[in-house]
Amino acid sequence: MEQIYDLIIVGSGPAGLGAAIYAQRAELKTLVIEKEMVSGGQVLTTYEVDNYAGLPGMNGFDLGMKFREHADKLGAEFKEDTVLRIEVCGEGGETLDAQSGGAERDGAQRGGELLQAAEAMPESGVLKRIVCENASYLTKTVIIATGAHHRKLGAAGEERLTGMGVSYCATCDGAFFKNKTTAVVGGGDVAIEDAIFLSRLCKKVYLIHRRDELRGAKSLQSRLLSMENVEVCWDTVVESIDGGDQVESLKLKNKKTGEEQTLPVDGIFIAVGISPNSEAFKGLVEMDAGGYILAGEDGKTSVPGVFAAGDVRTKKLRQIVTAVADGANCVTSAEQYLSLF
Ligand code: NAP
Repeated sequence: MEQIYDLIIVGSGPAGLGAAIYAQRAELKTLVIEKEMVSGGQVLTTYEVDNYAGLPGMNGFDLGMKFREHADKLGAEFKEDTVLRIEVCGEGGETLDAQSGGAERDGAQRGGELLQAAEAMPESGVLKRIVCENASYLTKTVIIATGAHHRKLGAAGEERLTGMGVSYCATCDGAFFKNKTTAVVGGGDVAIEDAIFLSRLCKKVYLIHRRDELRGAKSLQSRLLSMENVEVCWDTVVESIDGGDQVESLKLKNKKTGEEQTLPVDGIFIAVGISPNSEAFKGLVEMDAGGYILAGEDGKTSVPGVFAAGDVRTKKLRQIVTAVADGANCVTSAEQYLSLF
């Protein structure tokens, strides 16, 4: 008989690890599936996290490691694999309707407690099969905590020069630009944090923002604007990223005046927001136009027994603390669902 987990958590950033910690304490038979070799998600590439309660000025990588150590200490089981899809199954593990929450069931032929659970949830199958690249797993509940990834700018030359002066991670690649001139594009928390980080290494940093007001936290804005070697290019868009084997310059356009200029830089860091890692779950759960999984604070998605936590779900505030909280809330919702079995 194939092993059936109480809970499978997909992803091990702050939301997934927060969920793993709560699930272990709730004594649920839990598996965490992570596609990367290292847990932590986006927090790993954050130079400094200064807004997580109790841990001021914490290095992002160290915080990610601490989350993982905590889950390990409680005995959480981890597998490194990439989830391809989730199938809704009957209690024997047979697929009812892959990637569909509206699977039809022949309830009359089924018996026992699982039938009762299924009848209580007529729109879904009892079990979910998590199909990965290397294996598949059966579970009663699943928490999708797959986070988000860096959005592309869409400027000419961006793709060709990625890795050759175009980067999406200042903490990963900033050291290559010591004493050089760099630009950061964006006006959110990440762009401001990146510009502050780079100002400590680089001779000069330009922050290029398409509006005349930054979106990021006010405390970060004050720090940024006090840096002597940072210059903000307001109302400006990057039309192209140019260079031979390496980035050499940017073609910029001022949106208000229409003025164009060529800005010589050695590197450009793109921080124009994030997109959810939800591709694998299209057709399974309902999503908004941006691909974020529709779920409230309780993490409940359109499919009973499937929950969404962290940056991948619809929410107002995407922070480490809200991701960790989502993980905890989802485990509570999963426990309620499991009580139906
Ligand atoms: P964000 O807050 O969505 O900001 C994206 C920025 O990029 C905005 O300023 C936006 O401009 C600009 N932008 C978007 N598309 C663009 C385009 N095509 N061309 C030029 N500019 C473009 O994204 P983020 O900074 O990556 O942050 C993502 C989430 O993580 C946020 O919720 C943030 O608060 C959170 N975060 C949390 C922490 C923490 O907990 N310590 C740290 C970092 C980030 P407009 O302003 O004009 O829209």
